[in-house]
Amino acid sequence: MRRAYVLHHFWQAYESVPVGVAIGYASEQPQVEIADCADGFFAGQEPYPAAPAHRTWRGRELPFFFAPHPEQPLLELLPGNRARINFDLFAAAFYLLSGWQEFFSDERDRHGRFPYAASVQQRYGFVAVPVVNHYFDILKTAVEHAAGQPLTPRCWVDGAPFATFITHDIDELHSAWKAPAKAALHQRNWLRFGQHIWRHFTQPDAWNNLEIVQKIIHGYGARSTFFLLPEHQKAANGTPNADYIFSTIYRRSAELLKNGAELAVHGSIGTSTNPQKLRKQCAQLPGKVLGNRFHYLYWEPRTTPFVLAETGIAYDSTLGFAEHFGFRHSYCLPFQPFNFLAGKPFDFLEIPLNVMDATLHHPNYLQLGPEEILPALTPMFQEIERFGGVCTLLWHNDHFDPANETTGPRQFAELMQYLRSRNTAFVNGADICATMRHLSS
Ligand SMILES: [Zn+2]
Repeated sequence: MRRAYVLHHFWQAYESVPVGVAIGYASEQPQVEIADCADGFFAGQEPYPAAPAHRTWRGRELPFFFAPHPEQPLLELLPGNRARINFDLFAAAFYLLSGWQEFFSDERDRHGRFPYAASVQQRYGFVAVPVVNHYFDILKTAVEHAAGQPLTPRCWVDGAPFATFITHDIDELHSAWKAPAKAALHQRNWLRFGQHIWRHFTQPDAWNNLEIVQKIIHGYGARSTFFLLPEHQKAANGTPNADYIFSTIYRRSAELLKNGAELAVHGSIGTSTNPQKLRKQCAQLPGKVLGNRFHYLYWEPRTTPFVLAETGIAYDSTLGFAEHFGFRHSYCLPFQPFNFLAGKPFDFLEIPLNVMDATLHHPNYLQLGPEEILPALTPMFQEIERFGGVCTLLWHNDHFDPANETTGPRQFAELMQYLRSRNTAFVNGADICATMRHLSS
């Protein structure tokens, strides 16, 4: 079943699929033979396998799990349309793509999330490299040799080499004044404090900007997805949910929808373990809701995928590390999370989250200067482009406040200009679901 899971995603990653190339372990004498090196690892419940070997593929040094034969080449192209891969590609790709480490590790942070610090991506330094796509590149080379025909990565709309999924989690609409007012209070600057309070009561809040955000996105010839949070009450542990009451913006959100935005649910604290609650929140939004992203990127690997399946969500886009941009499952295409109880993929699609504004500059996360953001992200964008993947970007509405000079509208503009210059296709969750469904059928 590990092999079926890996091959399902491998075939999905390419446009034209040659029929009849057998890929398997050596004992089956297939055309493309894969070394069997997992050595009972998956029969146990250890979160981490042996350290990966560092090997070079197409000039890049990459980590290879389940690769105990450094004396052998990674790939041998043999006569008679046969090929041999000398590491356990099924095991290595399955380990990363299934999220095995999170399912079997007990490590959680103060928000109940699997921490980046506990991940193999952090330990071996490959969070910004979609290693599974590189493994697939080796398998692709083997399959092309066996089939005698090339495989091409998927194309997006109008032949675009990769896709970009722009998203906004809407947590706060009324709180732009709070931090500067608090700062003035601390400095005992009563005049400034008074000005902030006066402005708060007489002028619209700078974060109450949904229509402005939509206009900015349209300015790039793009469209985007708004993840709306229909819960105003704080969670039992004091974690805040929305600072607005959803019913007060229902008409405005319907208008965004009418003007081409996609609306999705931003499941509040507690919904990631409660399908009834999540379903109720979906029902509050106008239109049919296909997608979800959990507030605080909350995700409990042992329950949350089951909640999404039970809710009937078509796609989720929660899985990224809050602490670092990159690839939490080491994969740059949407994928179907693995159901560890049933031994098969879930039906819903995970569109991995690659980068969130707050990750780039935050006391708990990275501390990039405004001019360091695009250079830091460019290698990750290049990886996604190379493999025809989806680049998922989260820019909260409050980060479109012109007063934000670290991760604000100017930095967003730089990223958009770069992505547009690479001829990306701007897509939303519904587009991605339609494309991937088309591929599986
Ligand atoms: Zn949120």
